[in-house]
Amino acid sequence: MKASRLTRIFFITAIGLLLGIGTVQPIQAEEIVIGTASRAGVYFQAGQAICRLLNAETTQHGVVCKVLPTDGSIYNLQQIRAGKLRFGVVQSDWQYRAANGTGKFKSAGPDTDLRALFSVHGESFTVVARRDAGIQSFDDLKGKRVNIGNPGSGQRATLEVLMDAKGWDKNIFSLANELSASEQSLALCHNRVQAMVYTVGHPNASVLQAVNLCDAIIVPVGGPAVDRLLADNPYYAHTQVPGGVYKGNPQPVATFGVKATVVTSAKRLRADTAYLLVKTVFENLDDFKKQHPAFAGLEAASMVTEGLSAPLHEGALRYYREKGWL
Ligand code: GLU
Repeated sequence: MKASRLTRIFFITAIGLLLGIGTVQPIQAEEIVIGTASRAGVYFQAGQAICRLLNAETTQHGVVCKVLPTDGSIYNLQQIRAGKLRFGVVQSDWQYRAANGTGKFKSAGPDTDLRALFSVHGESFTVVARRDAGIQSFDDLKGKRVNIGNPGSGQRATLEVLMDAKGWDKNIFSLANELSASEQSLALCHNRVQAMVYTVGHPNASVLQAVNLCDAIIVPVGGPAVDRLLADNPYYAHTQVPGGVYKGNPQPVATFGVKATVVTSAKRLRADTAYLLVKTVFENLDDFKKQHPAFAGLEAASMVTEGLSAPLHEGALRYYREKGWL
């Protein structure tokens, strides 16, 4: 027993020496992990587009980029603050609140280390309903079975802001489910819920599944509470879910929205790495725009200004100044 273990150790050591393990240490690549959201959304696509470019361009810099599916904006901001995640894609409304210590982030206080890199596509607060549910407006959600989104997601948090503005709590719905974006369309099509809420760019896999599988409709969101939110908060704007993107939904549908933004922490990211990341994205912007239809209209000038309330990371700032964009 003892002898065979010794033989095993001998062979493992010998193979290790032959392979050079323990003699030459490989150079440690710097790992960039981008926290996104559900695989059914557009953040995951944005993360993949960034990583694809970085991994293609930067092997010589020793950077390895990976995409992490997560619960969404709130989770990403909390993990970045806790030093457990270096990059995240987050909604601009929650970037603002995390940076300023308001709303959900009031008890945590301002995250003074939070840094913005750039914004990406626009996201609309999107209500999708079963055609047979009699839901024509946001107010029609009263008394209905609704998927309010998983805790940690931007859609859940922004829905709660709107519900607060309307003086609603969860009891306004006959059922409030907490399914993630990747589960909600099937729940809708199986009639476990009659509507789902998603702050997201268009088109996305979740809404496509709902319209293609069970002919779901997109419902307008507006009225005095929304107008008040927009008047009080610069990070909200009137938006539309474009018509014709989804089967059976030919007309644009009015709602409000935010920007998807890429953030990091001043503590956890060297200026050179931030510089490299933004330079790679902007020097390959045409390529980036082709990675998903939601990115088609992106323009550098607005990506470096719109939706960013945390200070820019110093490495990003250096690149934008060099380009004369700021
Ligand atoms: N806006 C959503 C969130 O923050 C994610 C949308 C997406 O994955 O594209 O949680």
